[in-house]
Amino acid sequence: MPSSATPNEAPSPAPSAPLRERTAILRLWLGGLLFFLGAFFGALAYLGGQRFIGTVLIFIAFSIVIYLIFHRSQRRTIPLKSVVPQASHPFDSEAVVMAFPEPIILLDSNFFVYVFNQAAQQLFPNIHAGKPLSFAVRVPEILSAIRQAAEGKSITADYSERIPKDTWMQVHAAPLMNKQKPDKQYILLSLKDLTPIRKAERMRVDFVANASHELRTPLASLVGFIETLRGAAKDDAIARDRFLSIMREQSHRMARLVNDLLSLSHLEQKAHHKPYGEVDLREIVMQVRDSLLPLAEKKQVTITLIMNKEPYPITADRDEMVRVVENLVENALKYGGDGEKIEIELVHTPIESPTKIRLSIRDYGAGIAAEHIPRLTERFYRADADALQKKQGAGLGLAIVKHILVRHQGKLIVESQPGKGSLFTVVLPAKKTHDE
Ligand code: ADP
Repeated sequence: MPSSATPNEAPSPAPSAPLRERTAILRLWLGGLLFFLGAFFGALAYLGGQRFIGTVLIFIAFSIVIYLIFHRSQRRTIPLKSVVPQASHPFDSEAVVMAFPEPIILLDSNFFVYVFNQAAQQLFPNIHAGKPLSFAVRVPEILSAIRQAAEGKSITADYSERIPKDTWMQVHAAPLMNKQKPDKQYILLSLKDLTPIRKAERMRVDFVANASHELRTPLASLVGFIETLRGAAKDDAIARDRFLSIMREQSHRMARLVNDLLSLSHLEQKAHHKPYGEVDLREIVMQVRDSLLPLAEKKQVTITLIMNKEPYPITADRDEMVRVVENLVENALKYGGDGEKIEIELVHTPIESPTKIRLSIRDYGAGIAAEHIPRLTERFYRADADALQKKQGAGLGLAIVKHILVRHQGKLIVESQPGKGSLFTVVLPAKKTHDE
């Protein structure tokens, strides 16, 4: 539990201002009365021959006056106005620190922990109130920042850590004055997690580098062929035909890449919009099978459909679902086509609640090594060097599939055994019928 050190100089609750003023006036009246009585009876006693008693009474009367004068002048050194707002302040330092979602630590001038919040404890599990901060924190940047704050400077510094995982943090240390005890100084330490921002920056840089790399190769090849056609192959009809067909292929590749990139960016934009149309997955599977039959025939692969004649309704964007099925079946043909057969199966799983529909695409090709499987849906990731060399695709297909499925509250499960083939399963929530 986050906690705070017992404050040594916690101010005791102060009386309210009007009450304090009334007490002061009463004390003044009482003092005046005592002075008058003391002086009167002292003078009487003195004149009546009781010199000793008279002297004592007059001495007491004057002592009271001196006390009153001295006491008031002392009270004036702490003006009421400056005390009142302090004492009636509705929050204490602990409440303020606890209210912050980010890690906050308040230290005294000896760098002992005074107060810290829950987020600070999560970050530094060994932190304890009343113990030096250095017992729990070993980060040189933080220790240097608090040393500088102790000299009166506000310091902001960034640091990163590799263990247990890559993290980037920003620390800010600022000196805090105690108004009631100006000689006593505190240090406020606040921390900010920069990891998501840094990761996003790195992803953006990688993304631009990958996209331009993918475009550069076909572009360079196009420029090369154009130069050849204008020069050496100018009058060679056979070479011209061959080059033009390669150029067309390269142009298609670039167009595909640009389309994929646009799809990804479009999907990211609407990631938080739920799909609303009703779609029959069975009908989509049959449509995709028909459109890919020419490629299957070319590769001499048979596609078998395993499903009932009933509809498999889901709430989905039709075009996006076509894209998912198309990408997976096309991959099975491209990368698993040497297995000569592909099976597409659709099943309802009413046992699960809410009811799910499972679409699986199984091929009997080369399969995928286990270490690649968790990374397949990363952008530009290709599992086999062969695919990379043959430039079969840019490695964006499964990234698109994943984005679409996340938007549809679905998931993709990949199972594979090298040498035996792969099984890609899409799990989607079935559309609720009126009976459910
Ligand atoms: P692309 O869009 O380039 O086809 P994907 O993102 O669809 O890329 O797939 C990423 C990588 O996953 C491919 O480069 C391939 O190595 C591997 N892969 C995908 N599907 C299969 C499969 N059915 N069998 C073997 N490898 C596959």
